[in-house]
Amino acid sequence: MRIFEEMESEVRGYVRSFPTVFDVAQGSELFDESGTRYIDFFAGAGVLNYGHNHPMITEALIEYLKHNGIVHGLDKATIAKRAFLQKFRDTILAPRNLQYKVQFTGPTGTNAVETALKLARMVKQRSNIIAFTNGYHGLTMGALAATGNYFYKDESYGSRANTAFMPFDGFLGQDVDTIDYLRKFLSDGSSGIDLPAAIIVETVQGEGGVNVASIEWLKGLQDVCREFDILLIIDDIQVGNGRTGTFFSFERAGIHPDMVTLSKSIGGGLPMALLLMRPELDQWQPGEHTGTFRGNNLAFVAATEALSFWDNDDLANAVEYKSDILKTELEKIAADFPEFEPKVRGLGMIYALELPSGVANEVSAEAFERGLVIETAGADDQVLKFLPSLLIDENLLHEGIGIIRDSLKVLSE
Ligand code: PMP
Repeated sequence: MRIFEEMESEVRGYVRSFPTVFDVAQGSELFDESGTRYIDFFAGAGVLNYGHNHPMITEALIEYLKHNGIVHGLDKATIAKRAFLQKFRDTILAPRNLQYKVQFTGPTGTNAVETALKLARMVKQRSNIIAFTNGYHGLTMGALAATGNYFYKDESYGSRANTAFMPFDGFLGQDVDTIDYLRKFLSDGSSGIDLPAAIIVETVQGEGGVNVASIEWLKGLQDVCREFDILLIIDDIQVGNGRTGTFFSFERAGIHPDMVTLSKSIGGGLPMALLLMRPELDQWQPGEHTGTFRGNNLAFVAATEALSFWDNDDLANAVEYKSDILKTELEKIAADFPEFEPKVRGLGMIYALELPSGVANEVSAEAFERGLVIETAGADDQVLKFLPSLLIDENLLHEGIGIIRDSLKVLSE
């Protein structure tokens, strides 16, 4: 581990506390260099909805490389890009009656968010954005301004500019209608913010601690956007790609956002981010918003394979089935360890076990010793976030949950 301590910046964040060097991975299992096995309940922060090195994806990549397929193509039309666009239109957009244009942004989620915020401002010719408490949209300046967690911010960044934060669903308690609050805020000239260009929101806040917005709240948000001519941006970077049981997380609310950001699992494990926009919003001039590593062809190949999991309902059904297991087993754990006052919440295959501040990190460390990789989330790292691959084998799911139970037992002694 010494080289990592000596050479790598202290800023490294995710899975920073796991003291081993990983080597190979397959499906929902990781192996370190000594051959020790770990079950993966973290799935690359949501990148690995289809697991590590799925054979279908690996084979397609090997074939493409053997064929000397173009890897770096910038904006060139390539067969890999064409195959992705066709598959995305035919398998995802058309059956859902959605019409979006696709903009490939830089390789990581934040790039898609930056693009969405910039385009919304340009189209509406307004600078303000509304975002939500505990939301996470990335850490570069534009996206950071919309991220509702002060840990990441410093006054010196000047990144507060033009962003107002509104309470997310449930943030002010279940009795307060925060949509009503938002509507009053927008219609009251003395509230101090000019009309925003866009509202950006996660339907389930991932990094913020698995906070699930209700269907009524999401519908209400869309209504407000339409009433005040504000663009609605759904950030589906973490909870899109089937995580909540449907390909897009907003499907459960029957809403139709103006823009959608996608990244993480859209690339089938490779770096890829994109913005979906209503066709009339595509008002860029050629060359106006570019970057070198957009549209990597290996990512298109992997992404096209990954989309074939959506050719039928098998995956959605499997998510529903395993979602029940997660919910039931976590609720049993909550009932068995009242001393930690655990709270369970979630949807599809993203679940939270909320514990007292500090305890979630201790459980994560203990679980790692027992062969499970699981991360914490929430403003105080108070949440154990269950984010396994959607394809995880049922037995591994039970085994991983069992490790959490054993770890809590050790900590309660
Ligand atoms: N939006 C959401 C909802 C996210 O969860 C994340 C990453 N955790 C981002 C944006 C930023 O993506 P990236 O880290 O790939 O830049």
